[in-house]
Parts: sequence; structure tokens; C-alpha cells
Amino acid sequence: MTSTPARALEDIADWAYAPAPQATDVVRISPENGLFINGEFAPAADGRQFATVNPATEAPLAQVAEAGQADVDRAVAAATAAYELVWRPMPGAERAKYLYRIARIIQERAREFAVLESLDNGKPIRESRDVDVPLAAAHFFYYAGWADKLEYAGLGPAPRPLGVAGQVIPWNFPLLMAAWKLAPALAAGNTCVLKPAETTPLTALLLAEVCQQAGLPPGVVNVLTGDGAAGAALVAHPGVSKVAFTGSTEVGKAIARTVAGTGKKLTLELGGKAANIVFDDAPVDQAVEGIVGGIFFNQGHVCCAGSRLLVQESVAEPVLDRLRRRVETLRLGDPLDKNTDIGAINSRVQLDKIRELSQAGEQEGAERWSPPCQLPERGFWFPPTIFTGVSQSHRIAREEIFGPVLSVLTFRTPEEAVAKANNTPYGLSAGIWTDKGSRILWLSRRLRAGVVWANTFNKFDPASPFGGYRESGYGREGGRHGLAAYLDA
Ligand code: NDP
Repeated sequence: MTSTPARALEDIADWAYAPAPQATDVVRISPENGLFINGEFAPAADGRQFATVNPATEAPLAQVAEAGQADVDRAVAAATAAYELVWRPMPGAERAKYLYRIARIIQERAREFAVLESLDNGKPIRESRDVDVPLAAAHFFYYAGWADKLEYAGLGPAPRPLGVAGQVIPWNFPLLMAAWKLAPALAAGNTCVLKPAETTPLTALLLAEVCQQAGLPPGVVNVLTGDGAAGAALVAHPGVSKVAFTGSTEVGKAIARTVAGTGKKLTLELGGKAANIVFDDAPVDQAVEGIVGGIFFNQGHVCCAGSRLLVQESVAEPVLDRLRRRVETLRLGDPLDKNTDIGAINSRVQLDKIRELSQAGEQEGAERWSPPCQLPERGFWFPPTIFTGVSQSHRIAREEIFGPVLSVLTFRTPEEAVAKANNTPYGLSAGIWTDKGSRILWLSRRLRAGVVWANTFNKFDPASPFGGYRESGYGREGGRHGLAAYLDA
């Protein structure tokens, strides 16, 4: 034996992951990208464009057309014609074939989608490759199965599509949100005009290319890249019968005001401030993994993130000790490195918001902790951060930070846990960690949250409905319930 046990331990402490970069040559980004209207890519009517950048480097990736009112009019007209002439009259079994085809092509081009998503969004390739893209394909597969069975969805014997769906999506899961919106709408027989977020337009455009490749009839799916004004114009357009929005509560409220009294159907999937509740009988290592996944997955840019940890007082110290040790092992950096756990923040605006709220946390008296962590010089970065000594009145306990920042509160009894978990204007999700099934059932009946995870967190499945209470919005996406939003039963 040449090395002593002490020496061996030192070697382990010095050991670091070698870089494991994902090749980017699977992706070809066109320097200029048009709007996708009536099955073709074309510039905006007024020729306007904007740049989309790689948030990990701030390097421009491409120029993208910026849709204006004339483009919204054109897209809605194309979607209306496709609805009347092709998509509505088409038998469900035929529509299903297109959805299956889109799902299969997403699978075939999975690596291309994953790399493009990580380049444009900043999320780790491991997440885009293993979560976003497979789940996007799964949504098309799942809803393809419903297209010829709508009369068995429990929504009446002859449910009818609504017409043109105007769909506005955010930047945190650009491809996945596009799939959440398009797949049920198309299965139900509607046509779509989709407005992706300004900072993440590229995978929606690649999905448009996939629609072309699948031979989807022109006008059935249209993609309008642009800013909030394009989203507002789409939502207000009289030719749109159904509006589906995911994003901030503030914009959701503005959309609800626009749509009120128009007869348009509306679903809103808005923000959250979820409680992740850990009891003293929880398996600690498993709970720590769930806490880490709950808040640091996708840099915390997750509407249902477990951003408030409620830990039972008697186990708070050991749980926090292990949590800090675990967070020290997370690797932050190049999103395209297969070892990266935490990628870039999506935009400077979002980074400023995270910084501002974290400063407010310190000023209000909470204790801030981050592991030693070197941030890259260029790009938008924020280290994983844990606040302890948080009280319910602190802004970091009330407002959605939408970043890798965890606020820790404690409780003594299950009743106190419920009261604190529900003390939020939001109500999207919650997590419970305990060994007792009866306690899970007791709590899940009392938590005001659309989704309650037990001994796990951030698990998604196309068959499972997702949505919120109160300021987290209304309507459900996913599962049989997700069809109701797109059918007039
Ligand atoms: P927004 O709600 O502004 O954006 C979501 C989508 O709506 C984007 O496509 C956006 O376009 C578009 N939009 C903006 N204004 C309007 C409008 N008046 N009418 C119609 N569509 C509009 O979210 P932000 O990106 O500004 O993020 C702000 C905060 O919102 C985050 O910090 C986070 O707290 C929360 N958020 C929550 C999300 C969730 O999943 N619940 C997702 C994203 C953000 P554009 O990209 O050009 O602004």
C-alpha cells in the first residue's frame, strides 16, 4: 500500500470534475429569423428585428423578427382560415397523426433542441436534455392520444373546439411551455398563434420548423416572436377565441382585464411562492435532495419552485447543516457542460430583480449564506443562496424571487406548518416530507395549492393536471383537465 487513508482522503478533496462540454455543432442558428405565419417564415411587416443573446456569455445569438399589429392580424387571419377550412373539419384520428409526427421529430432532433434551449435560456444542458425536451415530446404524444377520443374526456358527448387560441409563454421553459400550450389546443381541434418570450424565441422557431417538417397544414400553428406589445395585441385581437398565458401575476391581471367581457376563454398560469415542508420524521438525505431540486433546478426560474422551506424546529439545525454541505457541492458555470448543476440567469433584468430582493432580505434582518463560488466574468450569474432567520413579513418570504434563493422558516406543529404555508397570496404548489402517510393526507387537504408533492418535488407528467389557486391563476394544463380549456362542452 503506497498511500495512507489520510492521503487518500486528501486526494478525494482535491478531485474536481473535468470539463464535459456538449458539442454545439448539432445546431445551426440562422443569423436572421422570421415570423412563422401560414406555414412560412417571413420578416415582420415593418422589418423590425431584435437580438437574442446567450445569457451565459452575453454574446448575440441571432436577430429575430419583432411582430407588430399587422403581423398579429396576418397570423390570426391565417389561423382562422386554417381552423375553418382544414383543422376543425379534420377527423380527430387524422389530427392525432400530425401530433404523433411532431412528437417523433422532437425526439429525433432532441439534442438539437436541448443545445439550442441551453444556449438561448442559460439552463444546464443536463436539464434541457433530460427534462425539457423529453417532456415536450411526451406532451405531444399524450395529447395525440386524446385527439380522437374527445367525447370520452368527461366534457360532454360532443365537445367542440373554440377557434383560434392566442398563447403567450415565458422564458423559463420555452420549448416545454410551447408544448404545454400547443399540444392540447391542437388535439382539441383549435388552431394557434403562439408568442414566445422575447429573451428565448429560438426553440419556438425550431418547433415551427418541426411543424413544417411534419407537414402540418399552413396556418394551424403560427409563431410570432416579439415583445410584450405583441403579446398584448394578440390577446386583444377580436379573432382570438381563447387566451392561454403563463408568466407573471402582474401581466396575468392585465390580460384578465383585457379579456373580461369579450367572451374569450382564459387560462392563467402565474407565479408561486411554494412551501416545501419538512417534518422531523422525514428521511433527511432524501428531503435535502428534494429541497435542492425544489429551489435550484432551472436556477429557481420555476413558477412552482419550493422557494420557502418550512422545516420543523426540532430538526432545523441538522437539516440546514446537511443542506449547506450539499449546496457546497453544486457546480455553477457553463450551461453546456454536462456536469453543470446551476446555469446562467436568463437576463440582466431578472438578475437585477434577484439581487434587489436578496438585498432586501439582508436589510430586513435575515441571514444570507452562499457557498464559496466563483462566478464567470461575463454573463448573468447568481450563486445558490439560503436565507435563514426569515420571518413571514419579509419580502423574501412573500414575493416571487424567481431565482436560486431559498427562504427558510421554521414551525413546531402541523397546524403551524399549514398556517404558514398558506400565508401567501399564491397557491400553485407545495411539498411535504414525512414518513407518515396519514400526515400527508391531512396536510394535502389543508394546503391551498394546485399541486402537492409528497416526498418528492418538481415532478411533472403530461397526464397530470397543473395549475393554481388565487394569484397563481386559474384553469388547469395537462391531463384530461387540460382539454377543458380548449373545448366548448
Ligand atoms: P412576463 O409576465 O412579463 O412575461 C411572460 C410573457 O408575457 C412574455 O412572452 C412576455 O413578453 C409577455 N408579455 C409581457 N407583457 C405582456 C402584456 N401586457 N400582454 C401580453 N403579453 C405580455 O414575465 P417576465 O419575463 O417580465 O418576468 C417577470 C417576473 O414574472 C419574473 O421575475 C417572475 O417572478 C415572473 N414569471 C413567472 C413565470 C411563471 O411561470 N409563473 C414565468 C416568467 C416570469 P416579453 O418576453 O417580451 O416580455
